[in-house]
Amino acid sequence: MSVRLVLTKGREKSLLRRHPWVFSGAVARMEGKANLGETIDVVDSQGKWLARAAYSPSSQIRARVWTFDANESIDIEFFIRRLKQAQLWREWLAARDGLDSYRLIAGESDGMPGVTIDRFGNFLVLQLLSAGAEYQRPALVAALQNLYPECAIYDRSDVAVRKKEGMELTQGPVSGELPPDLLPIEEHGMKLLVDIKGGHKTGYYLDQRDSRFATRQYVKDKRVLNCFSYTGGFAVSALMGGCSQVVSVDTSQDALDVAKQNVELNKLDLSKAEFLRDDVFKLLRKYRDQGEKFDVIVMDPPKFVENKSQLMGACRGYKDINMLAIQLLNPGGILMTFSCSGLMTTDLFQKIIADAAVDAGRDVQFIEQFRQAADHPVIATYPEGLYLKGFACRIM
Ligand code: SAH
Repeated sequence: MSVRLVLTKGREKSLLRRHPWVFSGAVARMEGKANLGETIDVVDSQGKWLARAAYSPSSQIRARVWTFDANESIDIEFFIRRLKQAQLWREWLAARDGLDSYRLIAGESDGMPGVTIDRFGNFLVLQLLSAGAEYQRPALVAALQNLYPECAIYDRSDVAVRKKEGMELTQGPVSGELPPDLLPIEEHGMKLLVDIKGGHKTGYYLDQRDSRFATRQYVKDKRVLNCFSYTGGFAVSALMGGCSQVVSVDTSQDALDVAKQNVELNKLDLSKAEFLRDDVFKLLRKYRDQGEKFDVIVMDPPKFVENKSQLMGACRGYKDINMLAIQLLNPGGILMTFSCSGLMTTDLFQKIIADAAVDAGRDVQFIEQFRQAADHPVIATYPEGLYLKGFACRIM
């Protein structure tokens, strides 16, 4: 008989609404013994079957649901079904937007908690974040090999969250050829080099694709400051939009080196592009003291919040950089500002920008709103899947 996780009375409600997580506080007892990541059945206090889930003994999220269908077992066929479902949407999107790279699996929102899979050309980059995802690695890899015989698979599960569940960080080739040091991909008419083996996350921030494209329409003949540039996706887009100059700032020299190559690869005017290795917080202050001005500023910082206790500090950080950016903008200038912290809601982020405007002594209009690109969908039963939000603001 399978191992059962029995919920305390009344705690089945979220599962009945198909939210995919079981928190430790909702667990009455375990019947039988399960290993890290193993598949278990979740039942209510009366013993009624609710879901089949992966067991995470040392995580606050004690179980992550694979399926709400009692007849579905978790095997290669299961992953093939889930992958095919996800693929349908991405194929449509890739055809619409002319993409060769996209997020194929966005974890919970694609019915695969803890699994991220990005496709870059013919490379599939795998990131397994939870014990259950790791436990299913062989089945998942077999499913991928079955559906995508043309693709090589590379593992980028070198993410710190794995330590929380006592798992090693892993990275390296899984099957097929090794990725090149820099792989060119296509995004809205741009060619961009992706470092699958050594870049951030899986190599590239696919989630900002639409915001990079949207930026293009605001920059004609404008002077642009691209904060937290990484490999310069916003800078290339700004140059394609006809900006007069774009200054890209990042603390990573490796990222800036790739950014420069990306400008060259697209045969854009390198003399209009500047790359500065610097701390954005310090540089903005320096620019303010020097009286520098810009017409468009992109503010795309890394995640400032990992848990609730960091939220207050993060709010101060967001307010600080956005206030400085607002001060640096000429009247009529545009601030493209983003937050990829899941705990930062859209409402709270909007309030922070409003506070930053007051402190900067400027009037600000919200004119456009952004979120993660459509290959990073948010399933209705798991609103936490929305993590990236942004605004285009007009500064008066
Ligand atoms: N805008 C990018 C993604 C940004 S990711 C794109 O479209 O691809 C965040 C970037 O911020 C990373 O490249 C990281 O190196 C950089 N970074 C983190 N802290 C920084 C700081 N204090 N100053 C400048 N760059 C920073």
